[in-house]
Amino acid sequence: GDFPVEVDTLVIGSGPGGYVAAIRAAQLGQKVTVVERGNLGGVCLNVGCIPSKALIEAGHRFHRANHSEDMGITVGEVNLDFSKVQKWKQSVVDKLTGGVEGLLKGNKVDIVKGEAYFVDDSTVRIMDEKSSQTYKFNNCIVATGSRPIELPAFKFSERVVSSTGALGLKEVPKKLIVIGGGYIGVELGSAYADLGSEVTILEGTKSILPGFEKQMSQLVARRLKKMGVTIKTEAFAQSMEESKDGVKVKAEIKGKEEEFEGDILLVTVGRRPNTEELGLEQAGVEIDEKGIVKVDKQCRTSVKNIYAIGDIAPGPQLAHKASYEAKVAAEAISGHPSEIDYTAIPAVVFSGPELATVGLNEAEAKEEGYDVVVSKFPFAANGRALSLNETEGFMKMVTRKEDGLVLGVQIAGANASDMISEACVAIEAGMTAEDIALTIHAHPSLGEITMETAEVALGMPIHIV
Ligand code: FAD
Repeated sequence: GDFPVEVDTLVIGSGPGGYVAAIRAAQLGQKVTVVERGNLGGVCLNVGCIPSKALIEAGHRFHRANHSEDMGITVGEVNLDFSKVQKWKQSVVDKLTGGVEGLLKGNKVDIVKGEAYFVDDSTVRIMDEKSSQTYKFNNCIVATGSRPIELPAFKFSERVVSSTGALGLKEVPKKLIVIGGGYIGVELGSAYADLGSEVTILEGTKSILPGFEKQMSQLVARRLKKMGVTIKTEAFAQSMEESKDGVKVKAEIKGKEEEFEGDILLVTVGRRPNTEELGLEQAGVEIDEKGIVKVDKQCRTSVKNIYAIGDIAPGPQLAHKASYEAKVAAEAISGHPSEIDYTAIPAVVFSGPELATVGLNEAEAKEEGYDVVVSKFPFAANGRALSLNETEGFMKMVTRKEDGLVLGVQIAGANASDMISEACVAIEAGMTAEDIALTIHAHPSLGEITMETAEVALGMPIHIV
């Protein structure tokens, strides 16, 4: 209709930014409406974090079934019905997205299906296929997320896929070429390698996972090579030729041209914020040249009643960062003094072995002028790691020399994704190496690695000399 609907807090997008913002705002007494043009749960739940981890786990199990001779376990023929893997993966997604719907409703959040477009700083139009409706809001939280970057020479098609396409393949490709050795390329590349694909990764910089310390990314590169994955670094994909039965990619590698053949080409070279078809300029919301929305410490944009969080806001494009900002923005609207503080934001790669980091690494700490103690402890000296047959990897702890304050922790090894949480707590709480060393850790557990790395910092570990 033509009469505007009046709402209190309007949230645009229902990913880990939007749905969390909606719930927190509702908990604080705001009357909340969420608008979503696609599926509830956003990229993370539908075509990101969750389905990728499901595929990775299926790959692990398939690989292990074939490779547990060390433990005296051999099996007959191991079969893979990939259509069932996909069904199971989808069932996980459906459970979670259904859960989000239940949580929103349980918090009395109104859900509107459609695409939002700003008319001015207090009005949006929400359109679906059939109709269009104007909404007036008091406050708005924009959480429209991001989408894969499409390269002009590698337009997406049936064979040339983004991460979304790669997650939904009907068959395990015989040969998979991956352009981009960032975390998404490495995670999906190794999942398909585990499931039986012959994988080639083309990465432009000097190493895969360029955001991580060399020692860490090298561990992953070594494991990938052991699995039969070809890694080409300083490799620039130039062009491709797609035919009925495959795709050929030409790349310049250290000055020489090479050609690669595959059934599927996965292009994962970054993600672009969904900020351009939103009418932000009509609301007066400022964005930078990359399309990222400018925000203050409370995620407030250049317009005081409009907030931006998640992949469209500055900082790492990670689900937990989106959810964290979501709470800050919802609380700010309710008048709380909440502010973002990125000191303890972890980053994880679900590779083999897993990589995780939080806070400053050695180089960053020195760059910031800290006098540091860097301690290191190997997984191979931990009983639990041995009994898991996961002895590869290490933990590094960066502490301030004068008082042992924990500045950062890096982990390469099994379950690093879970282990990093203890380091996050330590940094968030301003703990020292001594605080961690004095904490009793259950035995046998990978958590003891954290205690022992702290003991190394104090100069007295028990299990290494
Ligand atoms: P999104 O999740 O992108 O949600 C935005 C929502 O807004 C979408 O549902 C979209 O439909 C909706 N929307 C957009 N425009 C409009 C509009 N105009 N009107 C109405 N609705 C609109 N992060 C991690 O932390 N850990 C991981 O392991 C991880 N793995 C990943 C794996 C893959 C393959 C990918 C692609 C990403 C992964 N990420 C991971 C990143 C993570 O998914 C994102 O950082 C996160 O989803 C961002 O959340 P968001 O709420 O900002 O946006």
